[in-house]
Amino acid sequence: MTDARAHAALSASTAPRWIRCPGSVRMAAQVAKERRPVHEFTERGTRRHAAAEWCLEHQQHASTWRDRFGASLSEEGIEAVQSYLDTIGADQETMPHAELLIECKADLSFIAPGMYSYADAILVTDTTAIVYDYKDGRVPVAPDSHQLTFYALHCWHAYDVERVEVVIVQPHAGGVKRKTFHGDALEAAAVMFERAAKATQALDAEIRPGLPQCRYCPAAFGCSALHSAVLVPPTLHQVQDSPEHMAATLDRVELAEATFKQIRSQAFWDAKQGRAPTGWKLIQGRPGNRRWTPEAAAALEAEAVRKGADPSALLEPAKLKSPAQVEKLLGKGAAEGLTTRPEGAPKLVREEEPGTPYTPAAEIAKEFG
Ligand code: SF4
Repeated sequence: MTDARAHAALSASTAPRWIRCPGSVRMAAQVAKERRPVHEFTERGTRRHAAAEWCLEHQQHASTWRDRFGASLSEEGIEAVQSYLDTIGADQETMPHAELLIECKADLSFIAPGMYSYADAILVTDTTAIVYDYKDGRVPVAPDSHQLTFYALHCWHAYDVERVEVVIVQPHAGGVKRKTFHGDALEAAAVMFERAAKATQALDAEIRPGLPQCRYCPAAFGCSALHSAVLVPPTLHQVQDSPEHMAATLDRVELAEATFKQIRSQAFWDAKQGRAPTGWKLIQGRPGNRRWTPEAAAALEAEAVRKGADPSALLEPAKLKSPAQVEKLLGKGAAEGLTTRPEGAPKLVREEEPGTPYTPAAEIAKEFG
């Protein structure tokens, strides 16, 4: 994640793009750095990665980074980074002789020249390698994603181990996710990467729009294939025609929503740099709710006494903390059997996403049974 580091055209983090849209490698190479879309949370993610890297290297708590460098890291950021450090720390305890590699080059140039990346951290012994990836975003990433498979393949090739495990620490989308890769899966992945890398070299490499590949593509603003996919709406009767048409339309709706969000995010960034779009301006947001200062309790108690009121009336009655907070204090399982949970509303998601199938029959039984 270090900025000075050269970015490979065929990197792990961009693999979800270049595998699905081989032509994007050529397209992206033609876009000057200052013309690339800016993403709302990139700066925050870069900062948290820097904190994670430094704290891991110096074996420090995440808050130390903020205290030491005076850098901006919210309480939520400290907690997120610390969860990454704790995950690695817990594994280190079970593998005391493992070597810890931080920001380690994951090199697949044996598959194609210029195919490399940097893994956040790797623990390696004679038999096992564990790759860690900190993700700050809210779009869930699966541990068998192309990016993580890239790192796993590097470990398999570089360390000659029996077992490769990948660990994603994504505090805002699913927490810690793990997956163990076996040799046959990695051999198949090597073949897939080789084919995909070759496809990017073709003069007429295909340009194929879709959500995962376009979301972070540097060429998004100048890509006519993406613009046609997003801006030419299907007719309504096509949408209602069949479930297949509806599915294809939903794909385009998701792509359009992501693209428009990106445009808003770019406009916001431009405005912050003093280049507000014509007819738009940046204003200060509505202030948050009032909060008491540390001196408030004593001052208000004295005021209540002065006015002959009962000072205890100023206080909220004591209230149990949330089950998660209680389990943090009393240990996992302390809330078992003592909680209830309202059912979630039905949600339309893609077939491959996890979750209990929604059955309208159960809903009806509940209403009338
Ligand atoms: S914007 Fe999408 S379709 Fe266009 S080059 Fe990038 S990934 Fe491919």
